[in-house]
Amino acid sequence: MHTVGDLVDHLEGWYPLGTAESWDRVGLTVGDRADRVERVWCTVDVTPEVIAEAVAGGADLIVAHHPLLLRGVHTVTSDTAKGRMVSELIRNRVALWSGHTNADCAADGVAEALADALGIRECRPLVPADGHRMLNLVVFVPTDHVAAVVDALAGAGAGRVGEYDRCHWATEGTGSFRPLAGANPYLGERGTVEQVTEARVELVLPARSRAAVLAALREAHPYEEPAFHFTDADTGIPVDTGLGRVGVPAEQITLRALGERLAEVLPATAGGVRLGDPSADPDRPVRRIALLPGAGDSLLDRVRGLDVDVYITSDLRHHPASEFLIEGGPALIDIAHWAAEWLWLPRLADKLRGLEQAPEVTVSELNTDPWLLRLGPDVG
Ligand SMILES: [Zn+2]
Repeated sequence: MHTVGDLVDHLEGWYPLGTAESWDRVGLTVGDRADRVERVWCTVDVTPEVIAEAVAGGADLIVAHHPLLLRGVHTVTSDTAKGRMVSELIRNRVALWSGHTNADCAADGVAEALADALGIRECRPLVPADGHRMLNLVVFVPTDHVAAVVDALAGAGAGRVGEYDRCHWATEGTGSFRPLAGANPYLGERGTVEQVTEARVELVLPARSRAAVLAALREAHPYEEPAFHFTDADTGIPVDTGLGRVGVPAEQITLRALGERLAEVLPATAGGVRLGDPSADPDRPVRRIALLPGAGDSLLDRVRGLDVDVYITSDLRHHPASEFLIEGGPALIDIAHWAAEWLWLPRLADKLRGLEQAPEVTVSELNTDPWLLRLGPDVG
């Protein structure tokens, strides 16, 4: 039987919190890590309807894409919709974890789910991650303190490699030093050369955790002046993570056929699939495709500079989209934000179902797209 805490550890191994954008608020929002989880509910959005469905279905943990509490919150009373939702989750002992931009950019994450659904190959991130630099820490520790120091370093974010934590390498040797007159040595006498059996301990860590790891090291290490150094470690992480994807279609396809394929693979929405083309020729072939599930306005300039024929994204506003096309494109395909991101849920569910003693996993099929109906005649 899993707990909230160990399922969260798995989720954060697949979608590390540190890979989220700095403005994002991801991870465990509601819940007790010690609570047991028999059933997990997967959703893009947390809405009152999704919570009601999850509670009725016996869920202990909701895994959502969009954070419920992204901006500052000063109350969770039942006076606000968000407060009512938080209260409802707590009342029913349902935990909530969100994987947002950390799930977008992950290998096997939200953008890749959309690329795979379209059969896009040779995928690379549209915006490669650069904040994922890794360091290697070497620290010398008296052998009887290795476990305690490694625990402290692991607690601060060092030694995590995929689905493994506390990863470290230790070799034993002899450390030597002479405490000077002003020293307050843990071992040895002032003015006398001391020799100690020490371990050289090595761990990798994300560069962004350096300060926390160093503070933990100074706290847990018995020496007044621990010996350590950090070096850059190329662990290859940036290669396959980053926002959006760019790739080539698996077979020859026209712009119109690509739009039709999207309409087939995405869950139905009122907005459907909308296509804009600077040459007004939807039957021309598409050689390279850029895509970004979620709001894609902000990357229009970047896409313009790429050798792609079409940009698939959501929430495009009138002026940015029409100016982009007037300036020559590439073509745009606008899809529903919720639908694009929903494609991630079945593969998230498969990962959870692949765990040992897997929980029951349900993918919510409630449509949380804000638009209910599209009225009036179609064009084109
Ligand atoms: Zn989104």
